[in-house]
Amino acid sequence: RIVYVNGDYLPESEAKVSVFDRGFLMADAVYEVTSVLGGKLVDFDGHTTRLRRSLSELDMPSPATDEDLLAIHRELVARNGIEDGMVYLQVTRGAPSERDFAYPDASVPPTLVLFTQAKPGLADSPLARTGMAVISIPDQRWARRDIKTVQLLYPSMGKMMAKAQGADDAWMIEDGVVTEGTSNNAYIVKGDTIVTRDLGPHILAGITRAAVLRFAAESQMKVEERPFTLDEALAADEAFITSATTFVMPVVRIDGRDLGAGRPGPVAIRLREIYIEESRRAAI
Ligand code: PMP
Repeated sequence: RIVYVNGDYLPESEAKVSVFDRGFLMADAVYEVTSVLGGKLVDFDGHTTRLRRSLSELDMPSPATDEDLLAIHRELVARNGIEDGMVYLQVTRGAPSERDFAYPDASVPPTLVLFTQAKPGLADSPLARTGMAVISIPDQRWARRDIKTVQLLYPSMGKMMAKAQGADDAWMIEDGVVTEGTSNNAYIVKGDTIVTRDLGPHILAGITRAAVLRFAAESQMKVEERPFTLDEALAADEAFITSATTFVMPVVRIDGRDLGAGRPGPVAIRLREIYIEESRRAAI
């Protein structure tokens, strides 16, 4: 596999990042994941816009222009022959010569790393047919989840807790309401209304979320952006998640209890179809 590090395209075995890199030492880094469908990038502009915001919230210097980032994404997709899969991008605050909590001065350049992962049949996941099971866990992450940092230890623990219970993912609960999944936004459907958490520091503003809510509105579906409780979720007709790599994925079980008939619901199925179709069409 060919990866990108600070201006160079290299075999992954030759790519190097300093042990003093603040991404490695302090999780002082932000990232983006962009899906590839049919060799093209899905929602690329949304991901670069969110990257800019993450960088600016952390006063982190920008490693490249949007045009350069697009060119690097395309070059990696081409060099690795990716049809369906994803491009991972990470920016860190770079590698000062000494470990120090204070940010280094502007002479230390940020580190920019990108790599691809092939996922053949990404849009045709078997999980979309059966739907996924989630468990609920307390949300013990930091309070700025709107910034897409690489502090992913608690979400990793959450996935392991889910796995230990034979589930696929965890929905995180804070002050009695669902924030989001470990790596996705969470939705319930009651009657003809889709409910998902309103944006703010408590969740990541999903790029897929924005697209799906737009498609829902265009299809005359009713959407409420507001907090919802675990009890509300357990009493919902259906549920689903969204993220760049799972698109729209039905949720059929929460904490071992089936929602409705325990099968993917019509709203999730419809939104998944629309999202994949529109994403293929608009990919660049
Ligand atoms: N919330 C969290 C915590 C995430 O990690 C992700 C995926 N990175 C999302 C939501 C979904 O965001 P997107 O649709 O941009 O992939």
